[in-house]
Amino acid sequence: MKRVYIDTMGCQMNKSDTERMLGMLSHLDYEETKDPEKADLLMINTCSIRQLSEDKAFSAVGTWGKMKKEGKKNIKIGFCGCVAQQKAEEIFKRAPYVDFVLGTHKIYSLPEIIKRINNGEKVCECTETHSTEDDKAKDFKINRVKGVNAWISITEGCNNFCTYCIVPYTRGRERSRLPEIIMKEAQDALNSGYKEITLLGQNVDSYGKDFKDRNYRLADLLRELNGLEGKFRIRFVTSYPTDITDELIDTAVELDKVCEYFHIPMQSGSTPVLKAMNRRYTRDEYAKIVAKIRDKVPDVTITSDFIAGFPGETEEQFEETLTAVDEFELDYCNVAAYSPREKTVAAKWTDKFIPEDVKDERFQRLNKKIQENCLKSNKKYVGREMEVLVESFYEHKGKMINSGKTRNFKTVHIPCDKDLTGQFVNVKITEAKTWYVKGTI
Ligand code: SF4
Repeated sequence: MKRVYIDTMGCQMNKSDTERMLGMLSHLDYEETKDPEKADLLMINTCSIRQLSEDKAFSAVGTWGKMKKEGKKNIKIGFCGCVAQQKAEEIFKRAPYVDFVLGTHKIYSLPEIIKRINNGEKVCECTETHSTEDDKAKDFKINRVKGVNAWISITEGCNNFCTYCIVPYTRGRERSRLPEIIMKEAQDALNSGYKEITLLGQNVDSYGKDFKDRNYRLADLLRELNGLEGKFRIRFVTSYPTDITDELIDTAVELDKVCEYFHIPMQSGSTPVLKAMNRRYTRDEYAKIVAKIRDKVPDVTITSDFIAGFPGETEEQFEETLTAVDEFELDYCNVAAYSPREKTVAAKWTDKFIPEDVKDERFQRLNKKIQENCLKSNKKYVGREMEVLVESFYEHKGKMINSGKTRNFKTVHIPCDKDLTGQFVNVKITEAKTWYVKGTI
């Protein structure tokens, strides 16, 4: 066996791609190692959402390049993921020790690439695929990271072209994977003991829009998955606000395995900023969607993403984001200070860029607001009994802790000496913290 080390940066889509790549490599007799020093093949699966992530990727491969130069001549280095898709051949100029560059559209060519680099070639595979039928039907072995939650990618790419976002350029247009392939992956994951399936995509609610031979959408997929035998949970991320249909909300209420959790990026609380971002909804429309979900789904948790300091954002417009977090009772949210990305429309609006110190200050204020809201929301559950799926077991300050999630995505810490990983337990919530609650069985 040869050994491969993969450093995965960025979002769950990348983690899912890494699992697929490990699966393909296992057919070529590679086993995963967590130690780069022991690897024959070193790969980085990059994220291009912020400049900082891109810089970190080059710094990591720089270290591997040094290892190669200083004696480990036989190691091979692969540069994969979103930065690879975007920069392609340019990567060889900046990092000449890299043996192959593999974009997000071409991960299925990995086995072929490995053969070619082992014959001494340098390979760059980043051509954008517009023919989508191939992707939909792809079935491959996946080496899942051991755990409780199996992530299953159901769509790739995005058609929305938000003015700040690089994803449509790095991941291409939206393609839905065939339901029969997804169902097989889900059944395999359940057979291997996974207790939670998370359907993954940049825009899961538009799943199936591109099918020409059938009328099959996310609600249909959820119904089919819910029918699989055994006790397990189903989640889906990420939702685009205006793509969430009444049917989808009703399905989430009706199906016992689908959890009370929606992740709906709002990005800004100000309608003019949303317009500049090319988000296709207003603050009021977002409010209506959230109200509808809260009305129908008891105890639902709604989380979101926000950008602080988008080009041209005024102080008043930023304050509308702060009020949105309160008004819509948004729980845990990811916040990013705006970072211009090459090729995107907003990156050209340099005259409207917000000074770094102002962006940073808004970033801090928004995070503080979100922390306050998380604590407020967590306090609502003190005294309640909730079902928790235990995900990990570890020692903290001399005590053993089981940590897991409720159906509505609250993290629960349960002091208990017995490892309950993978089990569903009923827990009485006793105390609320900012990012989690404590409870007893
Ligand atoms: S919806 Fe917008 S932010 Fe999300 S991936 Fe697509 S372009 Fe990017």
